[in-house]
Amino acid sequence: MTTAKFRLLINGERVAGEGGSYDIINPATETVVGQAPEASLAQVTAAAEAAATAFPAWSRTKPEERSALLNKAADLLRERMDELIPLVQAETGATQRVASTMQVPTCVERFRRYARGAMEPTTMALPPGEMPATALAAGGLMSAIAVRQPVGVVACITPYNFPIVNMAGKIGPALAMGNTVIVKPAPQDPLAVTVFGEILDAAGFPPGVVNVVTGSGPEAGQALVASDRVDMVSFTGSTPVGQAIGEVAGRGMKRLLLELGGKGAGIVFDDADLKTTIGTIASVWAFHSGQICTAPTRVIAQRGVYDQVVAGLAAAAGRLKVGDPLARDTVVGPLISAVQRDRVEALIQTGVEQGGELIAGGLRPDCETGFYVAPTLIAGCRPTNAAVLQEFFGPVVVVVPFDDEDEAVAIANGTEFGLYDYVFSADTTRALRVAQQLRTGNVGLNTAQRNHEAPFGGFKMSGVGRDGGSFGLQAYSELQSIVWPG
Ligand code: NAD
Repeated sequence: MTTAKFRLLINGERVAGEGGSYDIINPATETVVGQAPEASLAQVTAAAEAAATAFPAWSRTKPEERSALLNKAADLLRERMDELIPLVQAETGATQRVASTMQVPTCVERFRRYARGAMEPTTMALPPGEMPATALAAGGLMSAIAVRQPVGVVACITPYNFPIVNMAGKIGPALAMGNTVIVKPAPQDPLAVTVFGEILDAAGFPPGVVNVVTGSGPEAGQALVASDRVDMVSFTGSTPVGQAIGEVAGRGMKRLLLELGGKGAGIVFDDADLKTTIGTIASVWAFHSGQICTAPTRVIAQRGVYDQVVAGLAAAAGRLKVGDPLARDTVVGPLISAVQRDRVEALIQTGVEQGGELIAGGLRPDCETGFYVAPTLIAGCRPTNAAVLQEFFGPVVVVVPFDDEDEAVAIANGTEFGLYDYVFSADTTRALRVAQQLRTGNVGLNTAQRNHEAPFGGFKMSGVGRDGGSFGLQAYSELQSIVWPG
C-alpha cells in the first residue's frame, strides 16, 4: 500500500503536494500506510479560487443533474469498497466490524440520501398577506415565496475518527444544494479521502466543484477559514478549534456549521432495564475505542442501582478483546496516535487523583505495537472531577452517583458540552420529562440507536447549527424572500 500515489484534487487536476508528502502511520502496527500530499498555501488558495470560479455554473445546474452525479459517486464508491475498507482500516486503526459496517457503507448511504436530497423542494410559498400602507409603499395584498439558495463555496474540515463518513456527511448535502466544496481531512488519516476525491472526479463533477487539500498541520484549514473566496465553513472537530474557527470566520461573516466536542451523560434510574443500559454504555468501549463524540461516556447512576451498574460495566469491560483490529474477534482497537493515547492516560490519572476509583483498565494493554488504552472504568466520581467534565475521546467511562431527578439533571447539565445525552428508565413519561430538561441537542431514551433523519448538533460548546436528513441540506442554504403584489 505504501507505493500508492495519493493526490490532491484542485480544479479537476490530481496533483502532488508542492510541500512534498508526509507519512501516515497505522495506529495498530506503527508502520507507514502511505504518503499523504503536503499542500502548499498556494495550492490551498488555488483550490478556493477553483471552487469560487465553478460556483456560478454549478449552482444553476438542474437538481436532476446534481442528483445523478451524487448517485454515480455512490455507485463508484461501492465498486471500490474492497480497496477502501483496508485503507481506512489501516490509517484509522478501526476494527473489522467498524471498518466494514460503518466507515465505507455509511458513506455510500449518505451519498444516496443526498442524491434524493437534491430533488427536495427549495421553494416555499407563503399565504398572501395584507400589508399596511407606509411611507415606503401603498400597502395591499402581497404574495411571497421563500427560496433556499446555495451559500457558495464551502470549506469542509473534518476530524480523524470517521474520515470519509464525516466528509460524505458534508459534501453530500453541500453539493446537493448547489454549493462547491474544498475538502480538508484530518492530518492523521487523509488517504481514503484523497481516493474519495478521485472517485468524485471520476463520477463527472465539473472541475472545481470538488477540491481536496491535505497537510500534516493545521495550516491548510486555517488558510481556508481565512480565505475571502470561502463563504461557509462546515467543521467537525474539537471545541477549542471550533472556537478559533468561529473567531476568524466571524470577521468575514462566513456561515458556520460547527459540530464540536461532547461528553454524553447517561442517566440511569433505579427502574432501568440494566441489561440494555449496560450493553448500551459498553458501546463506548466497543465502538471505535470511544473515539466517538456521541457516546454515553459519563454515567450518572441512581444510588439504588449504582453498585449493579458499576459491577455490570466492570464485567462488560473485562469481556472485551483488545488488540489487532484485523482479528475478527477484536472489539477494542488502538487510538489514532501516541499523542491521543498519552492525553487519555493523563486524564485517567487526573480523574483518579481527584477521587475517582479505578475499577477496570487504566493500564496499557499487553500489545507489542500500537496506541492502545484498555477499556477503563472510573467510578465514585464527584461531578466536579476533571474526568467527568472533560472529553476523553477514548475508551473511558466515568460513573457519578445521584439521589433524585433534579440532581441527575443538574449533574448532566454540569459540563460545557451539550451534544448527546441518554436517559435509561422504565418510566417513559419520566424519561421524556427529564430529556426535555437536558441542555443538549440530542437525547436517546433507552437506546443508542440514532435516527439519521432527525436534526443532529450541539447546544452550548458542542456547536452551532444542525445536520441530519433534510436539516443537513438546509444547513448549506441561505433563505431568500421574493415578494410581489397580489
Ligand atoms: P481537531 O479539532 O483537532 O481537528 C479537526 C480538524 O480541524 C482537522 O482537520 C485539523 O487539521 C483542523 N484544524 C486544526 N486547527 C485548525 C484551525 N485553526 N483552523 C482550521 N482547521 C483546523 O479534532 P480531532 O482531534 O481530529 O477530532 C476529535 C474531536 O472531534 C473531538 O473533540 C470530538 O468530540 C470531535 N468530534 C465531533 C463530532 C460531532 O459531530 N460533534 C464528530 C466527531 C468528532
